[in-house]
Amino acid sequence: MSRVAYVNGQYVPHAEASVHVEDRGYQFADGVYEVCEVRDGHLVDERRHLDRLDRSLKELRITPPMARGPLGVVLRETVARNRVRDGLVYMQVTRGVARRDHAFPAEGTPASLVVTSRSVNFAANDRAAESGIKVITMPDNRWERVDIKTVGLLPNVLAKQAAKEAGAKEAWFVDAAGNVTEGSSTNAWIVTADGVLVTRSADHGILRGITRTVLFDLAAQEQLRIEERAFTRAEAMAAREAFISSATNLVMPVVSIDGAKIGDGKPGPMARRLRERYHAYAEVSA
Ligand code: PMP
Repeated sequence: MSRVAYVNGQYVPHAEASVHVEDRGYQFADGVYEVCEVRDGHLVDERRHLDRLDRSLKELRITPPMARGPLGVVLRETVARNRVRDGLVYMQVTRGVARRDHAFPAEGTPASLVVTSRSVNFAANDRAAESGIKVITMPDNRWERVDIKTVGLLPNVLAKQAAKEAGAKEAWFVDAAGNVTEGSSTNAWIVTADGVLVTRSADHGILRGITRTVLFDLAAQEQLRIEERAFTRAEAMAAREAFISSATNLVMPVVSIDGAKIGDGKPGPMARRLRERYHAYAEVSA
């Protein structure tokens, strides 16, 4: 079946879907994006993802390309046209098309909107979660507003490639103070020797992951101890468990960091439990 993309008002064959050469996303990474999980044909945590999209747009002073209602229709239509039951939907908004000039284009230049959707083999993710993944660490060399979900992802791209070349699945960024910030496309978590869940506080130094937020709800409801604070690479190496979170990985256990085993080198019970319970706390849209 051929794939379809939504590009600025039209559904077009994926292979032919394109934006203008002077789209500011292409030239300046002047745009933002969101990725939503699709389960059983429904969007997971849509409200929170669209709230975060609004926030990112506001921070960059990009006028939303359409209201939330119509955007919800486009997301669903793109999912349906691609016959995705289990997968993801990706949306990207840029500051539009204008003659190349660093300063913002003229008032009224419409933002560009692209939406794509594809299937994800969640069974394969479940299998990966059974054995856990390896991560490497590297210096966090990103700008100081990574709380905005921009398409400017070059440091993240290089970090993920470094992880891949090292035989790992994710790279954790470490700041100048020696604290882990987050992964190249995931949030970073550890479980201490006393069973406390720890993840860095969501200031400007990390993206406030939606999966992360849902895990806070889960922890509160299931009376798990959780601390929002910085942790060092050394604390992570000595942790009982470690894991990453994101919309497409959900909770993915980490079994080694920079080649050193975490805990007994197997996925821990806390990560397993959070993964199993995740969808009981996520919001599933109609
Ligand atoms: N941090 C970064 C840098 C990311 O790119 C992502 C994935 N979008 C996350 C964290 C996790 O966010 P979410 O749980 O909303 O997918």
